[in-house]
Amino acid sequence: MMTRLLVRAAAPLACTALALFSFTGREGRHNAPGYKAAEVQFTCPVDGNQFTSPVTYSYTDFGTTKDLMQKNGEGKFYEHQVHSCPRCHYSGYKQDFEEELTDYQKQAVRRIVRKHKGKIDQVAENLLAAKIHVALGEYPWAQADLYLYASYLLRDKEFRQEERRQYQARAAELLIERPFDESEQGQRAKAQALYLAAELYRRAGKFDHATQTFGDASEIALKPEGLQTLIDQQYALAEQRNDDNTL
Ligand SMILES: [Zn+2]
Repeated sequence: MMTRLLVRAAAPLACTALALFSFTGREGRHNAPGYKAAEVQFTCPVDGNQFTSPVTYSYTDFGTTKDLMQKNGEGKFYEHQVHSCPRCHYSGYKQDFEEELTDYQKQAVRRIVRKHKGKIDQVAENLLAAKIHVALGEYPWAQADLYLYASYLLRDKEFRQEERRQYQARAAELLIERPFDESEQGQRAKAQALYLAAELYRRAGKFDHATQTFGDASEIALKPEGLQTLIDQQYALAEQRNDDNTL
């Protein structure tokens, strides 16, 4: 478990999703120019059920929104991050299906998934994956991405915006708890994570948390290029108590 934990913890936020791309798809399927996904065979580590699920392995970079969501509208990048066993609902990243679970761990997973009957949506899969990771020994802060992706999945769901803000606030809390090392790369990743946390707080309407956290991000000397400009822009919006969640 520790290896998986450290690998995720060390990855700069923007790279975590990209790091998931190392796989070999069985049947190539072209959805649109620049975007490629494939149906990949999965075996559930809880009940041995075999199923296929789509995985994105290339997409065109059209930049990001202010909450760092890739504008890859032609693809299903975020819908493909988490996979779920259709029989028992064990949910996780692709590599979570490559691990063997002990009987004790399987029991822990079953306690979480048993109340979910029938089909569940992508957002529910992300939340289940986060709960399962924590039950299997990962730190809560390592689940920030899953709450962030859940909020991205709800971006255009008009009637679920309050729920979207809940996941944004949760992702922000976890991003702030996430530890980073003192290396140059670690500090840049920390500045980006704090910026993102602040922006998520702003979107969730938690303006005091937002301005405080934008300030913390500003104080880090080593930042990715362009980040300070972004911090200044979004800080000004937070001061105006503007919670625009579409930028
Ligand atoms: Zn299963």
